[in-house]
Amino acid sequence: MAERYYNYIDGEWVDAVSGETFENRNPANWDEVIGVFPSSGKEDVYRAVEAAKKAQKEWASLPVPERAKILGKAGDIMVERKEELAKLETREMGKILKETRGDVQEGIDTLYYAFGEGRRLFGVTTPSELRDKIAYTIVKPVGIAGLITPWNFPMAIPCWKMVPALLLGNTVVFKPASDTPATATELVKIMIEAGVPKGVVNIVHGTGSRVGEAIISHPDIGVISFTGSSAIGSRIAEVAGKMLKKVSLELGGKNPQIVMDDADLELALEGVLWGAFGTTGQRCTATSRLILHEPIYDKFIEMLVERAKQLKIGNGLDESVDMGPVINEGQMNKILEYIEIGKNEGAKPILGGKRYTEGECSKGWFIEPTIFIDVQPEMRIFQEEIFGPVLSVTKAKDFDHAIELANNSTYGLSSSIYTTDLRKAMKAIELLEAGITYVNAPTIGAECHLPFGGVKNTGNGHREGGKWVYEIFGEIKTVYVDYSGKLQKAQIDTDLNK
Ligand code: NAP
Repeated sequence: MAERYYNYIDGEWVDAVSGETFENRNPANWDEVIGVFPSSGKEDVYRAVEAAKKAQKEWASLPVPERAKILGKAGDIMVERKEELAKLETREMGKILKETRGDVQEGIDTLYYAFGEGRRLFGVTTPSELRDKIAYTIVKPVGIAGLITPWNFPMAIPCWKMVPALLLGNTVVFKPASDTPATATELVKIMIEAGVPKGVVNIVHGTGSRVGEAIISHPDIGVISFTGSSAIGSRIAEVAGKMLKKVSLELGGKNPQIVMDDADLELALEGVLWGAFGTTGQRCTATSRLILHEPIYDKFIEMLVERAKQLKIGNGLDESVDMGPVINEGQMNKILEYIEIGKNEGAKPILGGKRYTEGECSKGWFIEPTIFIDVQPEMRIFQEEIFGPVLSVTKAKDFDHAIELANNSTYGLSSSIYTTDLRKAMKAIELLEAGITYVNAPTIGAECHLPFGGVKNTGNGHREGGKWVYEIFGEIKTVYVDYSGKLQKAQIDTDLNK
């Protein structure tokens, strides 16, 4: 019997008002049902918002270190449960255990960061232009935060959002991706066990078109934090923008790795294998474009194919496997369509390109690691996010051309350059149009205390991670305290030009 899961609203585990449900299955073995979840609608979201509203003032009235203490405890619980959570996540979304352990660890890191931040949350103290007056800032919660997350980091991304939202005193209504509701539910259970009071965290399962839309358009939700595709992000910006909500969007990527002829080629090879085929290419920061300097083009491709064809495909629970399945059948078909598009556009496929069905893999959604060479910038496989194990390789005449190719994208999340020439490395840091640049490291590998986000169509200018995420979930209040005992007028009493 598959496990039965529920929404968590106002401190109770409940079914959808409609009583409808949906199943969540293992992408490595479609016969395995992970769980049965409520298929919720607008009425469930409205109940969750009511609960969040009722709980918010009391939660916000706690001293910040007290909220931080609860989050620290959640971190301790997650440490205890790390292995079990990683296994559930691998069954639910397919990526290999090594990576799901990393995903849970990122959740732990985020919780511990918030534990420390609870004793900081520094504002600014600054002189006033008037006598006997001081000025400083404090940060207040927005109120209720709507969190909408994707399936590729089912623990880390919800933590990136929920943890800072809670630390600041917001209450939350959380809709996880329909492909990974079980891991999300475990996060909520951990928060409850750590001591988060009822109504503070509410989870509502269901589709984006019903639950997601109800969240983004609810007038009492003051801030929306979304990670997902640019198409849905743009829709959210439209709705939230009209309603003057705060909205943070972390969207797609088409991330380049440049390899110059002076690079350590073995190191660059390790980097691209990890960047392109880790998480089966389903990372917003995945290396989807490899830009090779002409003198090493043929040699590096030979090295790359040799190694990529040795990657072992299979169920991520098997520790010897390098690459798991893609998330679902629809995504698999979309990736296979892109492979056809690449061939029709004239790119040269030199590895993979097919669904992988050996042995037990016939029961899941597996795709071979796929490499196209001679990819031109005008091709769709160079420009569009495929979100699968498909790498496009392009030749660059020189350093300037490599940078031009890398920047030839509507996205701007991550970027990387391999070179041993300090001048080129520093120049690339300056010129690459991306929110993140790695030098001699792959395009993936974000750490929770640093800002995360991108430029161009990758987002709307916010950064998650570290102290920067607190700008999303907080409202800054500027405070002026006048202890002069008389009316003082800024700009009028103090004309500094005199
Ligand atoms: P998606 O289809 O945009 O879905 C993301 C979330 O939005 C899911 O929870 C989805 O619900 C929900 N949703 C769908 N339609 C909605 C609507 N009309 N209103 C409100 N919510 C709605 O993206 P995905 O396929 O899960 O994830 C892959 C994408 O995420 C890629 O583009 C990737 O680059 C991006 N991503 C970006 C980052 C980053 O930080 N920049 C990190 C990871 C992933 P359902 O699951 O029910 O459809």
